[in-house]
Order: sequence, then structure tokens, then C-alpha cells
Amino acid sequence: MSGKLGVFDTANEAIEAAVAAQKDLVLNYTLEDRDRFIGAIRAKIMPVMKELATSEFEETGYGRFEDKIAKNTGAVMLSQGTEAIPKNMYVSDKGLTVEYYAPFGVIGAVTPVTNPAATVCGNGIANMAAGNAVVFNAHPGAKKTSAMTVRLVNEAITEAGGPDNLFSMVENPTLETLDEIMAHPAIKLLVGTGGPGMVKTLMKSGKKVIAAGAGNPPSIVDETADIKKAAAGLYASSSFDNNLLCIAEKEIFVVDAVFDDFMKQLEALGAYVCTKEQGKKLTEICVSELPNGGHGANKKFVGKYANVILKEAGIEIDSDPRIAIFEAENDDLLVQTEQMMPIIPIVRCKDFEEAMKRAVHAEHGCTHSASIWSKNIDRVTAFGKVINTTIFVQNGGTMAAFGLGGSGTNSPTIATPTGEGVTGPQSFVRRRRFCMADGGNYLL
Ligand code: NAD
Repeated sequence: MSGKLGVFDTANEAIEAAVAAQKDLVLNYTLEDRDRFIGAIRAKIMPVMKELATSEFEETGYGRFEDKIAKNTGAVMLSQGTEAIPKNMYVSDKGLTVEYYAPFGVIGAVTPVTNPAATVCGNGIANMAAGNAVVFNAHPGAKKTSAMTVRLVNEAITEAGGPDNLFSMVENPTLETLDEIMAHPAIKLLVGTGGPGMVKTLMKSGKKVIAAGAGNPPSIVDETADIKKAAAGLYASSSFDNNLLCIAEKEIFVVDAVFDDFMKQLEALGAYVCTKEQGKKLTEICVSELPNGGHGANKKFVGKYANVILKEAGIEIDSDPRIAIFEAENDDLLVQTEQMMPIIPIVRCKDFEEAMKRAVHAEHGCTHSASIWSKNIDRVTAFGKVINTTIFVQNGGTMAAFGLGGSGTNSPTIATPTGEGVTGPQSFVRRRRFCMADGGNYLL
């Protein structure tokens, strides 16, 4: 054992250690061993969930502590193992061909500041199931939590008798260390979870990229919906971890007939309702102009508590509402920007058609996530077709697609621009064929 538990001074050392570990994994261990190591990771991480959440909360200053525990638990416990690796078989009296899915080797992975521990665990478990090792270039703002997670995961594997350094990282990640990882010949695939700048950089590498990019998930509530359920679902989903998740609904389009009722229901649940004027002020402070001329979230308020942001807007309250809401115009910059804050603009729409049109526009073609609260299946189908997002949920928050209030597996990396969707072991493998020709092994 190197004693480094995956955390190295240089990118080169991190890559070399991962190369050796990956060779060891595929040559000396079975698929059953990989599942056993995943079990060991779960058993190691679950008892220290609180420490991990504390580290993430203190280091990044983002999100809600209690939600981080739920979020990281999902990534550790609901990620898929080797059972997700597909297999195909072709048989005829001319022989038998088996198509199976092999590892790429060593993956370079970029992780976001908004979700550091879950992304290391989720990418790590899926890639180990696939037979890969991973070199992470963590967000510098979450490098300590990322290193803590990498060490824990390696410790779990080595204690279970597996290779050391299957997951590695540079202790002080920078854009330069990312360049080294991207350029290294041993890195066969890049996996990036983060915003548009990162996705562009990875795409320029000339290597295969699985990119999980930004979104601005809209939700629609129409007059056929169960308004109480819609309010409860969106309250939970949009407020989770202070709206940090890329899948969390970031603006809501409600048809006029049920708009006031919907706002009242949210207020009854604990949402702080701002006046239109206060909403304008919030937009002013929460959205910044970007150097390229567009708009983005003001990083100062990303993932902060609603009462902290309200205070900055001159609204002093002595409670801790999970979200603050306001009636916004459709062109409000908070509607059109991925804010990642628990300040949720709600747009009144004259009917479903207007809501649908506006929701599609606000998603900006990210093909990320959306939800709709409606009992009219024709409308749900129509919206699903035009919004064309990777995650699309009816009568549930977007988290329902990940097993939280619905069915599904969990992954911190939803590959939107490159199309792999909710990633898992099946996303990080190469297709190979073995053929027994000349009638081989066909028994009929
Ligand atoms: P970010 O883009 O600022 O950083 C993400 C990672 O990319 C970090 O490791 C960062 O160091 C690196 N990076 C940033 N700019 C880069 C550049 N120009 N070139 C190369 N690397 C660069 O994003 P963030 O604030 O860490 O995370 C929030 C963003 O990530 C949101 O847009 C959110 O939607 C997205 N996200 C997407 C998913 C998904 O599964 N699709 C999951 C989590 C977060």
C-alpha cells in the first residue's frame, strides 16, 4: 500500500497510482469482488455521514446540513453495482456471439463544489463496478471534503482486500492539473459534472467526454392538479439543500385559475411570500451580469439560507423558511437564470399552453430536468415532447426519478449534453464482442 489513500501532490502521481490500481482490479479480482468492495464503501461511509456533511457544509458554505446527509446517503446507497452492466447474446446454428461491456481503464473526473462527496462516491462506485479507476480533479472550493471522501473510499476497498488508489486526486486541484489529466495518454474517458465552462473545456480535449451540465428546471402546475400535493412536492423539491441540486425546480409556472390557491398552500407549508417589489429586489441581488454579457447566479448567495438572502435584500425575518417565493414576471432574470438558491419565482400564466411555452423557453435547451403537476395525461405527454429533458416527472418533484418519492437509481452525474442521462456503470464501459464461430457452442 502506498499509504496515500489516493490523495497525491501531483496529477502525474495520482494518474500512475490509478493506472496500477486499475490493472490490479481487472487482472486479479472478479466482478463479485467489485460488488463486495461497493458493500465495503457503503459500510464505511454510512457511519461517518454526519462528519462528511459537516465538512462539506463548513468548507463550501453551501446548502442545508440535514439535507446533505439525505443527499449523500442516496448517492452511496442507491447507486448501481455490476448488475447494471449490460450483456447481449446472438445465437444461430453458425455459432454464438456474446457482446459484453469492458472497462475503459482510467477515467478523469471533474466534480462540482455543490455536490463534492456525493459525486466522488457516486462516480467512484459506478466506475469501480465498470472496472475503471478514477482520477478526480475536484473543485478547489471543496478539495478537503473531496480528499476526505477519496481517502474513506480507498480505505474501505483496501480493508476489504482490494487494490489501493483505485480513486485518486491531486490534493490541490487547479485548472493546470486538469490540463495534465486531460492530456495524459492513460486517461481514456473524461467525465465532467458542473457548469458550461467546464463542459466546453473537456470537449476541447479531443477525448471522449461524458458531460453532466447545467440546467434551469421548470415546473408547471395546471388547474387539474391536486394543488395541495403540488405545493407540498415542490416545497420539498425546490428547497432541498437550499436548491443546490442541478435537478431541483428553479421556477414554477402556474395557471391563473389555481395560482392564488397554490401560493396560499406554499405559505401554509412555511414558504415566505414576498411582495412583487421585494421579488424585484431579490432578483437584483441574486443575479449577476457575466463578463460575456449574459447573466448567472450571484455566487455570494448560491446555496445560502433564504433568511440570509432576504436580509441582504432588506427583508428582516426571525424565522428560517425553507424557501422564499414571489410572483414574478416571465422575463424576470431569476426565472431565466439557474440561481441555485431557495428563492423561487412563480409565474402566473393565463392557461396551460402559455405555461408550457414559457417553461420550454426558461429551460433554455439544457435538456436537463422538468416536472409537471397535472392529471391530464395529454398535457403531460405534450409537455414531455416539447421540453425534451433528461429527467421528466409527473406529479412529483424531480427527485422522484432518483428513488426519493418515486422509483429509480441514484447518480450525482446526469449527462445532459452528451446524452448518457442518469449515469451508472453502463455509461462507463466499452462494448466488446467474443464470438465462437463455425457453429461453436450452439447446442440445438
Ligand atoms: P462549476 O462549473 O463552477 O465547476 C464545476 C467543476 O468544473 C469544478 O471542478 C471546477 O473547478 C471546474 N471548472 C470550472 N470552470 C472550468 C473551466 N472553465 N474549465 C475547466 N474546469 C472548470 O460548477 P459548480 O458551481 O461547481 O457546480 C454547479 C453547476 O454544476 C451547476 O451549473 C449545476 O447545474 C451543475 N451540475 C450538474 C450536474 C448534472 O448531473 N448535470 C450535477 C451537479 C451540478
